[in-house]
Amino acid sequence: MNQNSTEIRTEPRVLFVDMNSFFARCEQQVNYWLRNRPVGVCVYTGKYGCVISLSTEAKELGIKAGMRLNDVMAKCPDFVPVESNPTRYREFHKKIIQVIRQYCNDVVPKSIDEAIVNLTNYEGTTPFDIARNIQRDILEKVGDWLTCSIGIAPNAFLAKLASVQGKKRGGLVIITPQNIDDILRPLKLGDLPGIGYNMSYRLERNGIKSPLEMRYATPQRLKAIFKSIEGIYWHYRLNFMETNIMSHDYRGMQAMRQISAEKRKNIEYIDQLFMTLCLTLERRMVHHKFYSKSIGFTAVYEDGTRWDDAFTISTPVQDAVSLMRMIRLRIDKFREKTGCGPVLNTQVTQMRVAVTNFVTNGDTLYSLFEDMDRKETALKTMHAIKNKFGSEKLVRAVELTDGKVIKDVIGFGSVKDLTDLDYKMME
Ligand SMILES: [Mg+2]
Repeated sequence: MNQNSTEIRTEPRVLFVDMNSFFARCEQQVNYWLRNRPVGVCVYTGKYGCVISLSTEAKELGIKAGMRLNDVMAKCPDFVPVESNPTRYREFHKKIIQVIRQYCNDVVPKSIDEAIVNLTNYEGTTPFDIARNIQRDILEKVGDWLTCSIGIAPNAFLAKLASVQGKKRGGLVIITPQNIDDILRPLKLGDLPGIGYNMSYRLERNGIKSPLEMRYATPQRLKAIFKSIEGIYWHYRLNFMETNIMSHDYRGMQAMRQISAEKRKNIEYIDQLFMTLCLTLERRMVHHKFYSKSIGFTAVYEDGTRWDDAFTISTPVQDAVSLMRMIRLRIDKFREKTGCGPVLNTQVTQMRVAVTNFVTNGDTLYSLFEDMDRKETALKTMHAIKNKFGSEKLVRAVELTDGKVIKDVIGFGSVKDLTDLDYKMME
């Protein structure tokens, strides 16, 4: 269901719900003795484990997400590292969405800890009261440690901005056509969710120095600066049109992982991680019956340099083996041409695989169709068995390396690997 439109909406009837310190608070919810302590969720808790979510108490001590445990412990010996628990966070996510749906059916989860609630078609309701009720109900019905920030505005982007501003000010912020300029005036370009360092530099170089100037720039000018239709979308967002609500907002999926100094000494680990990332994407694509036509791969090295590749293929793929094979083929071709060293080596500190440009098998009419269909069924069966008996029980030959299967990978801010079943209500 696509709710985007160029109609200008001035009534603040869209809520953006953002769970605070979600993973860390889920852990504090389950383990009472972690409450009021500096806690951090890590994908693994080895010496150089990387912190991915921090409790409020840890943030107050100046610890930042992405820091490594050896640095964190040196700075704060009371810090409690906790290993991540993806299943737990998905369970809480589902319960939270259920609670929100009691107020409105028009709910779109944007990530595992964010949801958009569109009250546009719910006349006679007061968004402010519903926001307060949602906050209360999550605490009462899901968990008394699970707090959230909610922003209210005429579109989803501005509602998200309102939730961020509300968190800073410790209250509920409502953005309206009357107050938007006052809200934007003190902000820097980088304060807008989605505007990163590179983009704010590019905007400034082109004479747009603040979010307020961006709001009053013409769509054509923004399009020229962004060199894409994204520029026009930014004009829409800042001028009360909707660009962000789509229940199947799958422009792309990615799987990424940091690699500790300890782990990357072992080239087998690097290879296995590469496979795990591809398998993660495979699982998500199988769930959603997607095939990808564009693939991206990034390796970042110790010295800060990186290998980036993105390519489009004519036959859409879904399975990890094909993904791996094509990425490796590209690497081999590049090495043949340039004579450079191995791309997957023991200097890799971060690895990312991305898939985009999706097609569903329903509208692909390739000669390989029958083959693909069969392959999909085989993959589905395998995933079904894995879900039933646990992923360690059934391992394909390609996954067998040293007998260990790398843990589930949590995509940052991603909810994309929930099963179809979870989304049934939304369609
Ligand atoms: Mg959050």
